[in-house]
Amino acid sequence: MHQPSNSPANQAAFDRACQFIPGGVNSPVRAFKGVGGTPVFIRAADGAMLTDISGKQYIDYVGSWGPMILGHANESVLRAVREIMQYGLSFGAPTEIETQLAEKIVSRIASVDSVRMCNSGTEATMSAIRLARGFTRRNTLIKFEGCYHGHSDALLVKAGSGMLTLGVPTSPGVPADVAKHTLTLPYNDPDALLSAFEQFGDEIAAVIVEPIAGNMNLIVPSDLFIQTIRQCCDRYGSVFIADEVMTGFRVAKGGAAEYLSFTPDLITFGKIIGGGMPVGAFGGRQEIMNHLAPIGGIYQAGTLSGNPVAMAAGLATLTGTEIEGFYPLLAEKTDYLAAGLRQVAKDNGHSLLVKNVCGMFGLFFTEATSVDTFQAVMACDNEKFARFFHGMLAHGVYLAPSAFEAGFVSIVHDREILDKTIEIADQVFKSL
Ligand code: PMP
Repeated sequence: MHQPSNSPANQAAFDRACQFIPGGVNSPVRAFKGVGGTPVFIRAADGAMLTDISGKQYIDYVGSWGPMILGHANESVLRAVREIMQYGLSFGAPTEIETQLAEKIVSRIASVDSVRMCNSGTEATMSAIRLARGFTRRNTLIKFEGCYHGHSDALLVKAGSGMLTLGVPTSPGVPADVAKHTLTLPYNDPDALLSAFEQFGDEIAAVIVEPIAGNMNLIVPSDLFIQTIRQCCDRYGSVFIADEVMTGFRVAKGGAAEYLSFTPDLITFGKIIGGGMPVGAFGGRQEIMNHLAPIGGIYQAGTLSGNPVAMAAGLATLTGTEIEGFYPLLAEKTDYLAAGLRQVAKDNGHSLLVKNVCGMFGLFFTEATSVDTFQAVMACDNEKFARFFHGMLAHGVYLAPSAFEAGFVSIVHDREILDKTIEIADQVFKSL
């Protein structure tokens, strides 16, 4: 008999959290709103495994929502953090390790000449948009339905991730005067983009896109879509912002820009570049980056930006991904998992589409043979996903608690762990 995920101790922890924290969580995606039930409180994590406060273990496919590409509590990351901590936690003055991480990012991402650190993906995208607006002296922003770029006002319009899970496409509290500058278009639809540019081209400051969408499950867009963004931005002098907070250093050594062979003007980062610490960054062409204060007039700042402890965790994580064959190995692991899940779903008569790109995967409960649009994602069977999720959780596999989130595999998900996951999925499918 499997130990239940919601033990009395877990329920007590949640009830107490709810007294002092709205909804008991510090980020809505952690609540089990999309699947029902009580979030699992975690005590510790190591490698591919999580341990909850009752001692139950789970194979983890959330990886702190992306950063844990080397697995949890990676020894070289922890060592780097311990080492730098001895010298103090924050100085509010430049440190050499900030340059080291910036140099590492610049050396790996072809289109990035320089990079500014901040504290989250939200800050990165918010700042990149301000930079693009200041640079172009225009206001209008294009984003795509189902893409999530953090919780700043301009971007909480028809957003993915927790916004989709909670069914609130546009957040109350975002002034209409702000939202009116955000044009939302269908993802992966070059024609819609072309006609928006034909109509408003001279007003468009920037197009922001998840080049591989991981906040409405997982969608890899067509080359034509990405190339159309590039062409429209070139033709009308708008800034192409690739939001690689999730895909950066995850889908290839040089992120989605390398994987899909395109050249954006600005790229935003987060997650992996902080190795589990709160870090974001945005970078790009020098000509644009030089408009940032203190060189230019576009203001962006942060008391803790470039925090040395966070930089050390990020640098050690990126260094860990530079071992020979890292990304092909990660892709092979995810391929193996995806193939196994497809097989056991089929064996048990369930229609499951599994998509994967390097260390990311998406599970779609659908009869469709491909899912390439927001509408197609919305047409999947979420209720069945919720039952699958709870079956997996009960048997010790921790998936993201929403049908709209991508899954993440780390480099320490070994064959035994992947086989165990597939075996558990087989049992769960039998009982679905
Ligand atoms: N952009 C993308 C593509 C993301 O996936 C996320 C977070 N999941 C963000 C931005 C926001 O990052 P953060 O949660 O660190 O603010």
